[in-house]
Amino acid sequence: MNKKGTIIFDLDDTLFDTARLKSNIFSLLAESGISFEVIQQSYLELREQLPIYQIDQHVSFLYKKTGTQISQDIIDEIQKVNYAEYVDADVKNMLSELSDEYELQLLSLGQQDVQMKKIFDAGLDKYFSEDKIIITIEPKEKKLTGMIFSEPTYFVNDKVYETEVVAERYPKFKCIVVGEDRKTDLPTIKSVLDVKNIL
Ligand SMILES: [Mg+2]
Repeated sequence: MNKKGTIIFDLDDTLFDTARLKSNIFSLLAESGISFEVIQQSYLELREQLPIYQIDQHVSFLYKKTGTQISQDIIDEIQKVNYAEYVDADVKNMLSELSDEYELQLLSLGQQDVQMKKIFDAGLDKYFSEDKIIITIEPKEKKLTGMIFSEPTYFVNDKVYETEVVAERYPKFKCIVVGEDRKTDLPTIKSVLDVKNIL
């Protein structure tokens, strides 16, 4: 069947509730006695230095900053976090419906093994064929170079700057920013579930 177009989805904080995952990881780290605020702040500092989050790097960064060593028990608990709990059933229902009519593409910035684990554990792989899942550590606008999508092509992402760069580079794309209080001239939606209303 001919599809009506392509929808390129971001993963973190678009389909996947990464904010809640982070908050739960920080709470586990806070069991070490380091305050949640310090952990949150250290996360932001670390992310300025590193494009990709890795728990072992966060643990050593916290040790350097506070002198507190996170116990192996806590690290084990963090490693046991179940990614399946971070994608809403509503999001999966939406993807299932959209996949009948549209080509669905996933484009995520991050570490291959971590992102693939999120995708498989949460059951998102069902809605994207293998060649439609792209994990990259390159900026998205670069990764999209030379790729061809059926039109119209929607680009759905929570990060304002990243989406604006893509919108400028690919003027044919219909770029949509997801999230509350996003300041941008691009069209915005509060939740990814609202995508259906603007196609
Ligand atoms: Mg994101």
